[in-house]
Formats: sequence, C-alpha cells, structure tokens
Amino acid sequence: THFGYQTIEADKKQAMVADVFHSVASKYDLMNDLMSFGVHRLWKRFTIDMSGVRPGNSVLDLAGGTGDLTKKFSRIVGPSGRVVLADINSSMLNVGRDRLTDQGYVGNIEYVQANAECLPFDDNSFDVITIAFGLRNVTDKDAALRSMTRVLKPGGRLLVLEFSKPTNPLMSKAYDLYSFSALPVMGKLVAGDSDSYQYLAESIRMHPDQETLKGMMEEAGLVRCSYHNMTSGVVALHRGIKP
Ligand code: SAM
Repeated sequence: THFGYQTIEADKKQAMVADVFHSVASKYDLMNDLMSFGVHRLWKRFTIDMSGVRPGNSVLDLAGGTGDLTKKFSRIVGPSGRVVLADINSSMLNVGRDRLTDQGYVGNIEYVQANAECLPFDDNSFDVITIAFGLRNVTDKDAALRSMTRVLKPGGRLLVLEFSKPTNPLMSKAYDLYSFSALPVMGKLVAGDSDSYQYLAESIRMHPDQETLKGMMEEAGLVRCSYHNMTSGVVALHRGIKP
C-alpha cells in the first residue's frame, strides 16, 4: 500500500540519520565551528535571547545533541529551573552529557533519549522549547511540531533554529557551492566521513523555506508565528507561542 511504502521510506530515513550522527558525534563540535566559521555561536546566542527564558523556567532543548543551548539555558534557569536535553541519538547524547558534566554543568539538567515525533513528556510541561538544526532531520515534521506544541505550557514559546532559504541570489549560489563542494571535503578531512556531510548538505536543501515552516507551525496550533533571517537567510529563527 501507499502507507506501507511511506513507512519503509520513513524507517530508512530514520536509520540513515542515526548512522550519520553516530558517525559524526565525536567530531561534531569541531566540525560545527569549522563549517560555520564559528558563526553558529552567534545564531545560538540570538536564539537564547529571543526565547525570553527566565530563572526557574522549565526548558526542553530538543535534538539538543552535544548541548550548546542546554549549557546556556542551564546557567540562566538556575537551581530552581530545569533543562531537559533530549535527542534520538545515544552517541550524541553521551558526548553531550560527558562534555557538560566535565565542565561542571550538573544539578538542573536531565538527559532523555527521545524522538521529536512522539515526546515522552506530559502535556503543558515546558516554558520554552528549542530545536536547533534538528527539525530538518526529523522524518515527520508535522507530527514533531504537534508533539512540541502539546508539551509546551500555554504561553510557552517554541524556537526553531534551522538552515533556510537564502534571501539574495548571490548568497544562494555561494552557499550551494560551499555546501556541495567544500562541506563533504571538510567532512572527509576532519571527520573521515564525506557521506555524512553530503547528507547534511542535501537535508539543508530539502528543508521547507521560511514561509512554509511558518505555515506548518501555525497548522500545529501555535500562534503569533514569525521568523527572523540571519546571515542573509542561510539560517532562520522561527518562533511561535502556544495559545
Ligand atoms: N542542537 C544541536 C546543535 O545545534 O548543535 C545539535 C544539532 S545536530 C545537527 C541534529 C541532532 O538532531 C542530532 O543530534 C540528531 O541525533 C538529532 N535528531 C535527529 N532526528 C531526531 C528526532 N527525530 N528526534 C530527536 N532528535 C533527533
């Protein structure tokens, strides 16, 4: 059946994404800095600023990987708050937990292996949810957005930081050239794995553009949805609020 076909394709995608992140986990942080020339730190800083997070808040850093955002949130929410770092991939989660624990981030962080499409949390649990460079890897993005909306508290904010569609044609050309030629080569040199970085470049191109993602967030039940382009739309930060 058509449904059966979709399920096999979905399983294949999930298995492939798992292989990619098991393979890159140990080199992930270094590659992030190299590939983005360090600019991912600014994109993430802006995400934290736009989240409106406060001391005592409950935060979910979904597809949190090695925990860059979790680390910053942990400092802001303080001992009366909590941050859940959730990721589907045990290798990424392990690298993240070891790194944060070694750096002394303990006490208000929980680590949960979870699929964004069916989150294992109660309704209305979080003040803020972030998913940074994660949504494009999720097979059923609509299911994931519905699941995130369900676990947000009323008035809570979802922030989606993701590669998007460059707004000017020159940047778009430069970016295509960079991601399809330079990325796999860097992946091979640094992480010994060009296929994974080829996949990352392709997943970026396939991801819904700014307006489409905004529509999907509204469809999932969020209100006051908006987005902010960064680096000429190479990356966009979307925000929506649970009514
Ligand atoms: N948020 C981190 C950051 O910005 O550095 C990590 C981003 S990394 C590119 C993408 C992460 O999404 C990986 O750790 C991967 O395991 C995770 N991921 C992929 N599919 C997922 C899913 N369905 N549910 C939860 N996490 C998922």
